[in-house]
Amino acid sequence: SLLRELQSAISLQTFDVHYQPIVAADGGGIVGVEALLRWNHPSRGAIPPSVFIPLAEQSGLMSQLGEIVLRRALADGARWPALSVAVNLSPVQIRDRWLVDLVSVAMADTGIASSRVVLEVTEGILIDNPQEALQRLEALRALGVSIALDDFGTGFSSLSYLQKFPFNRLKIDRTFVASLASSGSTGAIIQAIVTLGHGLGMKVLAEGVETDEQRVLLRLAGCDEMQGFLFARPAPAAEIDKFMTRAGRSAVA
Ligand code: C2E
Ligand code: MG
Ligand code: MG
Repeated sequence: SLLRELQSAISLQTFDVHYQPIVAADGGGIVGVEALLRWNHPSRGAIPPSVFIPLAEQSGLMSQLGEIVLRRALADGARWPALSVAVNLSPVQIRDRWLVDLVSVAMADTGIASSRVVLEVTEGILIDNPQEALQRLEALRALGVSIALDDFGTGFSSLSYLQKFPFNRLKIDRTFVASLASSGSTGAIIQAIVTLGHGLGMKVLAEGVETDEQRVLLRLAGCDEMQGFLFARPAPAAEIDKFMTRAGRSAVA
């Protein structure tokens, strides 16, 4: 029955897209946002993406759902010219050969500059057909967008693909960030990821930053950007609109 409801939510487009700010590690403020899907079910309440994304993937609905998020996020992002907008892509979407056209059309329709668009993928794209995934990511990069590798460090992390694939950004998974204060070895791993990412010409972002202690340690480790409840929780587009209006006013003043 959840599947049926997911289907109708997709056709009625009753999903919300929330945005979580991404901040510069040097304290320079918000540099971008990540779009995160929200499904507020009329009777069941909020259903987390960890439940409905796998359901959409298994039932063939992910491409449709992904198109909704992509179009909405680029349309919202077009109003925030100072920010980059990151959109998560499921491995199912990477396998879809129309994805490149979809991204291209969505950018043209919304007028957003490709240099402000970030597409986040996980190591899951490497499992079935890494060759096809590589071609797809290269075609996306050719549109001028950036590609971020999400949840880095939790998959199988064979390092050879980091060299082959056209990633611009690495997002360190929040499980590392969470154990940073309690475990000395986590600091060594994060330090190594930052050095690796920078050596390969990538920006390195830490996810799930919740405490000031984590922020200080991550900055010392050389992370470029951070995201987490310490800075801001995911919020509706209207909140980002308000923030950008205030920021614009204080820039003029
Ligand atoms: P993700 O892409 O790694 O997104 C980050 C997740 O971490 C979000 O959970 C966010 O709310 C949460 N988060 C952010 N800061 C903190 C923090 O300081 N502490 C903690 N504990 N959590 C934090 P969310 O929104 O529940 O999304 C979970 C996952 O679902 C996402 O992980 C992503 O893989 C997937 N997802 C969400 N929206 C979409 C979408 O539009 N398309 C696809 N394909 N996947 C999506
Ligand atoms: Mg993500
Ligand atoms: Mg992540």
